[in-house]
Amino acid sequence: MPGYAHAMERLGTETAFEVLARARELEAKGKDIVHLEIGEPDFDTPRNIIEAGQKALEEGYTHYGPSAGLPEFRDMIAKHIADHRGIPVSRENVVVTPGGKPIMFFAMMAVLDPGDEALYPNPGFPIYESVIEYLGAKAVPLALRQENEFRLDLDEVKDKLTPKSRFLILNSPQNPTGGVLPPEDIRALAGILRDYPEVWVLSDEIYSQMLYDGSHASIAVEEGMLDRTIILDGFSKTYAMTGWRLGYGVMPTQLAEMVARLETNCNSCTATFVQRAGMEALRGPQDASRKMHEEFRRRRDHLVAGLNRIEGIDCLLPEGAFYVFPEVKSLGPSREFAKQLLEEYGVAALSGTAFGAFGEGHVRFSYANSIDNLEKALVRIADCASAFRKS
Ligand code: PLP
Repeated sequence: MPGYAHAMERLGTETAFEVLARARELEAKGKDIVHLEIGEPDFDTPRNIIEAGQKALEEGYTHYGPSAGLPEFRDMIAKHIADHRGIPVSRENVVVTPGGKPIMFFAMMAVLDPGDEALYPNPGFPIYESVIEYLGAKAVPLALRQENEFRLDLDEVKDKLTPKSRFLILNSPQNPTGGVLPPEDIRALAGILRDYPEVWVLSDEIYSQMLYDGSHASIAVEEGMLDRTIILDGFSKTYAMTGWRLGYGVMPTQLAEMVARLETNCNSCTATFVQRAGMEALRGPQDASRKMHEEFRRRRDHLVAGLNRIEGIDCLLPEGAFYVFPEVKSLGPSREFAKQLLEEYGVAALSGTAFGAFGEGHVRFSYANSIDNLEKALVRIADCASAFRKS
């Protein structure tokens, strides 16, 4: 049989999809499962957005479009980012992609060479480490710890930056911890990066509108950072549009041209009717999205209180996104705990190690599920924890 590229040995994956597949297998055999594994809102896309997508199809948005995105949509995104972040960006800085994920891949492809060093949060979204390694660059983890409220340890950042550093990834609010980088840390980090002008920053802000208190802070606004920051954002989470595949990056013009060229080589463009639906998401009423967010807050409070009542589980109250990342260290290895939880107790969750080695001692629960189901899950998690305490 013909062989495969060596680089494929370095390409990782997202365990969430594997756990979902196993959970479905168990369901097919008749087992009742509460799904707390997958990172997508359980709400439907708001009606006005669906109708805008349908109307666009009727109007003939069924053809190829420009690789960087429809000009009117890029204008709208630039205005949205300028208004929300307070930075002077325009159409030329915006590239629309099928989901936010391609921005990670394309941005790293455009700037990383083999041997370059890229710093990334760990635990963190698994695709960061996967793409860095796939490209032959060196993945340098920045540990996020519960005792530090899952903030970056700025001394560690200083220690790990070297003359070979070319890329640094930030994600706030964060997956999997729900942690938020406080503005003072972002400012301090920008100060540290001033000594490393060769380092690009990918600021993954996909959960920027899923913040429970305070307002979102982006490193792009800090002095000197706009010229070296790629903001990743999109519609999947805020507007419950995961399956539509719609996201974007905001970055310096020259990089935007390169990312658009990668888009030409890969997808040609993002589906044009989907972009028209995205326009409605940005300019239409925001109440459905707001309601969803308030419901997430209720669930978060409920889940965190319930988890902290279980002996052996210690859970912080996350400030953003829709995940909790409790410590379960005293009960046993994370992977074992998550496995038993699914196989024996019918709760699908992810081991902290699915987000990198520094996730050991934790599990991730997504609270994109109803209060009733969270209640059911809590009883089962308590039973599982009790069994681990006895073993
Ligand atoms: N960034 C983070 C931190 C995420 O958690 C996700 C999705 O789970 C994405 C980016 C990708 O989002 P999209 O579905 O828009 O590609």
